Amino acid sequence: MEILNYNSSMLYRPFGSRTNVLVSMLGFGAMRLPSVDGKIDHARAIELLESGLYGGINYVDTAYVYNEGDSEIVVGELLNNGWRDKTYVATKLPIWDLKKDGDQNDLFETQLKRLQCEKSDFYLLHAINKNNWKRVLETRTLEWLDEEKKRGRIRFAGFSFHDDFELFKQVIDAYDWDFCQIQYNYAQADVQAGVRGLKYAADKGIGVAVMEPLFGGFLTGPQMPPGACRLFEESGLNPVTSALHWLWNQPEPSVVLSGMSEMNQVKDNLLAVSTAEIGGLTDAEGNVLEKVCRFIRDFVPIGCSKCGYCLNSCPVGVNIPLMFDLYNKHILVERKHALQPALYSGNLPHEKASACVQCGKCVAHCPQEINIPEWLKKVAAEFE
Ligand code: SF4
Ligand code: SF4
Repeated sequence: MEILNYNSSMLYRPFGSRTNVLVSMLGFGAMRLPSVDGKIDHARAIELLESGLYGGINYVDTAYVYNEGDSEIVVGELLNNGWRDKTYVATKLPIWDLKKDGDQNDLFETQLKRLQCEKSDFYLLHAINKNNWKRVLETRTLEWLDEEKKRGRIRFAGFSFHDDFELFKQVIDAYDWDFCQIQYNYAQADVQAGVRGLKYAADKGIGVAVMEPLFGGFLTGPQMPPGACRLFEESGLNPVTSALHWLWNQPEPSVVLSGMSEMNQVKDNLLAVSTAEIGGLTDAEGNVLEKVCRFIRDFVPIGCSKCGYCLNSCPVGVNIPLMFDLYNKHILVERKHALQPALYSGNLPHEKASACVQCGKCVAHCPQEINIPEWLKKVAAEFE
């Protein structure tokens, strides 16, 4: 087994049986790197990434579209800072940009330049859903993956996924994937591929990376319904540690990707992984998570993970994730605080929910399948 960047306080697992590598159980998701005025702050981002790598993380996950390409550029700078031989980098092909057979090459070459690499360790088809899967087949992208693997420019091929279990099975069975990436956390074990997808892939020896383990930060605590926060406070449990322990308690997830944007998150996550083990979830943790899960399902109106994939598709410039975040928080505090209405009014007119012209262009980009225009109507009615 190959292992990079070994550190005794980190735990490592085989990435399925089709790769020969050991990955750190905590991976660094590079989609929420620290930024200023919407642009990544490169110095702070590198410092943050390096703190994770010094703690034994050996897997960094980025994508063509993250921060309009800047995430890949920062990861390239990180590799040049002495981490090239100690880090596996995963990046993703934007399927929705493929118009015809052959378009993959230009995108892939741009990515290699940004990452300052000659090849990709782990390469994924990004955000497979019904539409994207159709496009993968029409543009012969599976054949292209085979060719690039033969050429040695792609070492391991995988896909990230946002659709139902039936499509997941179909995709898994359609190609000799080395690994896959699914959204999975204790509040959404039966959503999308879910626990059935996790086991289906793992049974076939396909490595599974988990994304959204804290559902875009929602499961970290402060944004939860007050009743859910109280459950954590009364039990003395840490919401982040418990959520991550729930994942690592299971043998199937190889690497859990956390999109860290602050140093305290890196520290918390490294601490959580150092105390993780299969079967290590305590009864107290299990009970609290079950109750919290019920609270969340009952109280949070819009299941937006704040991934931002919808943003570039909007011709008007509505700040969709912010609108949904303000609305969710407003409902969670039972409309009792003036803060969310005040924050809403502080936005520019084109950023507000009421600017939505109901064109529907954003809908296909949402991995959570949220009916964005319908919800924006409700947000506008609530705040205006
Ligand atoms: S439906 Fe509204 S939010 Fe979505 S792309 Fe159109 S204008 Fe933007
Ligand atoms: S609405 Fe959907 S695509 Fe947009 S940020 Fe939320 S989850 Fe992501």
